[in-house]
Amino acid sequence: METTTIKSCPECGEKIKGRSDKKFCSAECRTYFHNKHRGLESNMMRAINYVLQRNRRILMECAAEHARSKVPVYSLQARGFDFSFYTHCRADRKGNEVIFCYDYGYQRLNESKVLICAKSC
Ligand SMILES: [Zn+2]
Repeated sequence: METTTIKSCPECGEKIKGRSDKKFCSAECRTYFHNKHRGLESNMMRAINYVLQRNRRILMECAAEHARSKVPVYSLQARGFDFSFYTHCRADRKGNEVIFCYDYGYQRLNESKVLICAKSC
């Protein structure tokens, strides 16, 4: 005997008939549903990657423009640097925390300045 629980299709809302482990009313709804969610996921990742890549570009540009890569925080902010987005952080040899956007990182020197470094610091 098959148990009959009444479920509805998460895509179109139709009642699902048939096997109790069926999640969608049809193959079309299943495909459409999964494609839609994959699309949302990649849109989100695209938006995050965009911010990270912009941050990296700003670090790279500012490092090149300032002596010894010591850059005022306001100059990063003026270009649209977003401090809440980064890829990873780790400590340098002296134990200072370096925050990275891919291969470019920075450490806080004080309230108003950061030191930018690339790749292997
Ligand atoms: Zn459906």
